Amino acid sequence: MAITPPSALILDMDGVLYHGDSAIDGAIDFMRSVENRPHLFLTNNPIKIPEQVADKLEQIGFRRPALEQVLTSAEATAHYLASKKSGFLFFAVGAEGLHQALSETGRPDAEDADFVVVGEGPGLDFDSLTCGINLVLKKGAKLVSTNPDNNVDATHNGSHSVLPGGGALVAPFIVSTGVQPITIGKPQPLLYEMAMSRLGVTAEECLMIGDRPDTDIAGAAALGMQTALVRTGRFAPGEDWPAALPRPDWDVSSLGDLVQAFERSFPGWFS
Ligand SMILES: [Mg+2]
Repeated sequence: MAITPPSALILDMDGVLYHGDSAIDGAIDFMRSVENRPHLFLTNNPIKIPEQVADKLEQIGFRRPALEQVLTSAEATAHYLASKKSGFLFFAVGAEGLHQALSETGRPDAEDADFVVVGEGPGLDFDSLTCGINLVLKKGAKLVSTNPDNNVDATHNGSHSVLPGGGALVAPFIVSTGVQPITIGKPQPLLYEMAMSRLGVTAEECLMIGDRPDTDIAGAAALGMQTALVRTGRFAPGEDWPAALPRPDWDVSSLGDLVQAFERSFPGWFS
């Protein structure tokens, strides 16, 4: 159990704050109670730009966050590629949010791309796969994946569904080329490091709250963050902890339970 109170919160959203378009019970109250604590919303989902994420949180009933409080794997990917090559050329397979984020620091070029970026969301088809694998195999483009999730829960065509995640969508590129991608999202460190830099805190000062042991918790624990798993999303109450993964500091059924557990360890931390 961690012994010092954190000074900042990093929050996953899907399965922690909402399911689809509805807030999870207690999540709106929870966010009110941490309104004055430094916090940031972190998502492996590259589909929406931060403004759309802020819109969604507001529509669901949360206070609208500042845009700097929202960090997506698409932004992190753009940041990473710009750090590797200023004015990079890219070929992106993914949703509009990914194309938009990459276009802020790079330029699309299906002939001479430095990077083939594969993101979660719609976009993959036979032509884009063919173009991408030829760029990798014949032009030496680097293969980049926004996030490694195998699948995700989301609303699709009006019904709640399991959709292929970023890891599934990059898989055809891996099979076709034999090349392993550079992966950006959780549990890789980049997204967390950008979050810490924005918050101006060290890993030890952060509490990461998430619903997935393999991404949210594993990546944060590897950096030395405090971690809280809420069993309101992917990981169900009663499910056994995966033996290979680090245990979270707090393993709770809900955000309300996290507040109570904190009250015992750090009285008054939640206002
Ligand atoms: Mg989640």
